Amino acid sequence: MSDRPADDRFERPTVWSNPSSRAQGTTPGSFAARPEIGGPRSFCSPDTPGMPQPSDRTAWDFMPPGWTPPRAGETRWTPPPGWTPVTQLDFARLGVVTAEMARVAEREPHLTPEQVRDEVAAGRLVIPANKVHLGHRLDPMCIGRASRTKVNANMGASPVSSSTAEEVEKLRWAERWGADTVMDLSTGGDLDATRDAIVRNSTVPIGTVPIYSMILGRRIEDLDADVILKGLEHQARQGVDYFTVHAGVRREHLPLVRRRLIGIVSRGGSLLAKWMLVHRRQNPMYELWDEICEILRRFDVTFSIGDGLRPGGLADATDEAQLAELETLGELTERAWRHGVQVMVEGPGHVPFDQIEYNMKLQRRLCHGAPFYVLGPLVTDIFPGYDHITSCIGATAAAYHGAAMLCYVTPKEHLGLPKKDDVKQGCIAYRIAAHAADVALGIPGTRDRDDELTKARAALNWEKHIELSFDPDTARAYHDEDLDVDTDFCAMCGHDWCSVRISKEIVEFTSGKDADYAWRQPKVTEALSAEQREILERRGVLAPEEIHRLASKTRSRMGAATGQKASCHSDYADDEEALRLQEDELRAEPASR
Ligand code: SF4
Repeated sequence: MSDRPADDRFERPTVWSNPSSRAQGTTPGSFAARPEIGGPRSFCSPDTPGMPQPSDRTAWDFMPPGWTPPRAGETRWTPPPGWTPVTQLDFARLGVVTAEMARVAEREPHLTPEQVRDEVAAGRLVIPANKVHLGHRLDPMCIGRASRTKVNANMGASPVSSSTAEEVEKLRWAERWGADTVMDLSTGGDLDATRDAIVRNSTVPIGTVPIYSMILGRRIEDLDADVILKGLEHQARQGVDYFTVHAGVRREHLPLVRRRLIGIVSRGGSLLAKWMLVHRRQNPMYELWDEICEILRRFDVTFSIGDGLRPGGLADATDEAQLAELETLGELTERAWRHGVQVMVEGPGHVPFDQIEYNMKLQRRLCHGAPFYVLGPLVTDIFPGYDHITSCIGATAAAYHGAAMLCYVTPKEHLGLPKKDDVKQGCIAYRIAAHAADVALGIPGTRDRDDELTKARAALNWEKHIELSFDPDTARAYHDEDLDVDTDFCAMCGHDWCSVRISKEIVEFTSGKDADYAWRQPKVTEALSAEQREILERRGVLAPEEIHRLASKTRSRMGAATGQKASCHSDYADDEEALRLQEDELRAEPASR
């Protein structure tokens, strides 16, 4: 019973769904809003006062012409005679669960195939799966607020660096480090061959910005309807799963960027702005929108409607130009749904931390819940070289407040073309952001591995601790850099100060003798693998020989003979004796001072 004055007492917020399927731990649930799959909020942060409320419309309010609404006693719309479904959205509107929806439900165990179908029909979930790519190696996945937060990795050859083989290698690397989709943003080399190789080799959906290849060998001024439509059809035939099309930048928006510190930072947005100024005409992508929709529908390519006016610095965030474009993105979403095309919408960019929630919730309202796919956002501009960190702080907030997919940023952002290790750093930073948000949102099962790792850590079971780590090689290398034996402490605090070891002595459960975490045999760490050695070498602090010499010294200082575990006094008490001592201690009267 607390003896604090009544005014100082506090209450814990309501705890909703449990993010751990095993209901483990003393914090069993999430403080986020009550989950509402099948509604506009799905998994959702509580609203700060003044935030835009969700739209009360969905893709059901933007049906293609000729469909008949359900009559009394019916639940489904009826398409016009002779109409055949093509896209996942078409099938969902008919009430059909496709093989891709069933696969998505397997990969998102908290969703049933019917829930996946219903979210696709509402326009809140997309399954980017070009029919051509499905004929190769694509493993269908989904993007939407009812599912776990996804991560995209960008790659692509530039005119000054990289090649097709290198890009395919980066694709494999991005898949290994957890990218859910990959965008090929090549602007140099053999664009067609690189795109083809990436589509054929990928198990994840591939996105592109088709305008890049449309202007190769031609001036932007010479872009016309024929080039645009043929270019889109060519890439759709190759199997690209989603297209970024910057149709939302309109001529009337251009005066709004004049006062910005950094103008237009989207490549597609700046190219189309130049086209509009030269020709004194509307954005051709906007004017051709209905024809573009028909091409995408034939192959079930998903739109990723580009934000050509995204802010390129904190000072330009949430300005008139950005929000005017966002309103047009909402209009384009409605028009694409009328063609049966799946839609996600792209978002910023560089946004101060306090403005992120507003940006996410405004998009949810204006685009009627269509998945929001955001770049970062970066929450500060002064850390070039570390923008994977500045942006993954923003990305965590974005995912918590409404983004469905996060486009990674690497340490090379603003500075150069990412190499393999930059891709890894970006992927890991963004897996952290996505996972942190999913746990906070209370998506069922998302915390299971965290809880397992906590148990392994409490039991000082290093093998399991490292096996459960997202990057076991790096975790093992860092552990062994200082202490190449697995014992009841690590080099961070040392034996006498290891609170986990002391706690392990106090409570039976955390004694490491829990059945799942039995740790009876002395263990000697395996020698480092070549990959782990490389991680240490890349750190450039000590040569591997030096690290091992120091680690061996530590081990012998701890009294370990060659090939044996260093001992500490918790090893001297057997299970029963440890338990008896703990119970005696717990029963003992507090000592007087
Ligand atoms: S020594 Fe410190 S960091 Fe290492 S296991 Fe013990 S408490 Fe954790």
